[in-house]
Amino acid sequence: MSERSELLLIYTGGTIGMVEDVETGALHPINFDQLQAEIPELKKFDCNITVKSLLSPIDSSNMNVQVWKELLQIIESSYEKFDGFVIMHGSDTMAYTASAISFLLENVNKPIIFTGSQLPIGKIRTDGKENLITAIEIAAAKENGKPIVPEVALYFEYSLYRANRTTKVSAENFEAFQSPNYPLLAEAGVHIKYNRFAIRKWEDKKVIARKNINDQVASVKIFPGLRRDVFQAIANLPNLRGLILETFGSGNVPSDSWFSEEILRLNERGVIVLNITQCTTGSVIQGKYETGVHLENAGVISGKDMTFEAAITKMMYLLSCDELSIDEQKSYVDKNLRGEIS
Ligand code: ASP
Repeated sequence: MSERSELLLIYTGGTIGMVEDVETGALHPINFDQLQAEIPELKKFDCNITVKSLLSPIDSSNMNVQVWKELLQIIESSYEKFDGFVIMHGSDTMAYTASAISFLLENVNKPIIFTGSQLPIGKIRTDGKENLITAIEIAAAKENGKPIVPEVALYFEYSLYRANRTTKVSAENFEAFQSPNYPLLAEAGVHIKYNRFAIRKWEDKKVIARKNINDQVASVKIFPGLRRDVFQAIANLPNLRGLILETFGSGNVPSDSWFSEEILRLNERGVIVLNITQCTTGSVIQGKYETGVHLENAGVISGKDMTFEAAITKMMYLLSCDELSIDEQKSYVDKNLRGEIS
């Protein structure tokens, strides 16, 4: 490190900072002062760490757009003062929040590293200490005065991932996340090995936070036997602006005519319909099979190899860009905005 970095550590809650209730044994969040006492190593870093906590730390299953706004506000208002940010977050919805922040915070050129853990930091076998300590090291890392990772990323169990490529894959293993369609940004062993080809290049930009998040979105996971009235219950929502279809294989759905009819009606109402595959790896290619061609013809947009987490938060982001017409918003859905599409 050439100069002492100034870091902001934001605590949102999650297992990493939870303790067991003595009576029920259930985990609940503690405040950051208690957490700091658990990690004396925080004082040993060759960088200055300021700590901030959400007003009320949460289990990340309680995450919502209001909390995203609070987080955006904290980052935007302190962006100039700090060289990097580490966000401690519950692992359950971390891929959603990390994806959301990657879209809603435009022009990021500093490290914003999400991390959490599977075991509370107070437990002897915790994964939280290593995750937090290495996330801090990555957020502070500079070369020639510039951050090595100038983007929103997620660090968990020795791997650094691009935020909007991640998904939680295990409720049990310490290796809880994957980035199925994009290489690691870095791997931590004795040294932290950065994958410079995969990391976004630094650019001189001014950050802007989109806090007017549009949450008029929904998703339907297609399954054999899906009934039209069930589909309609969602498709007919009066304020719906964006719908994600989770489809089979390379983007296929049953070829029943009612399906195309419903999609055409959604199109006429100006609802943006995006096609994401249920498969973990690979990409939607709508023209590949007849069962995908009719979606293409009905105006559904291919989500290519986006994760569900990236697709739903990108939809919220684009719909919050009020200065764009619906056609313009639509035109950006399948464009690579933040490295979320190959
Ligand atoms: N339920 C917890 C949360 O997401 C799980 C975790 O932190 O790993 O907040």
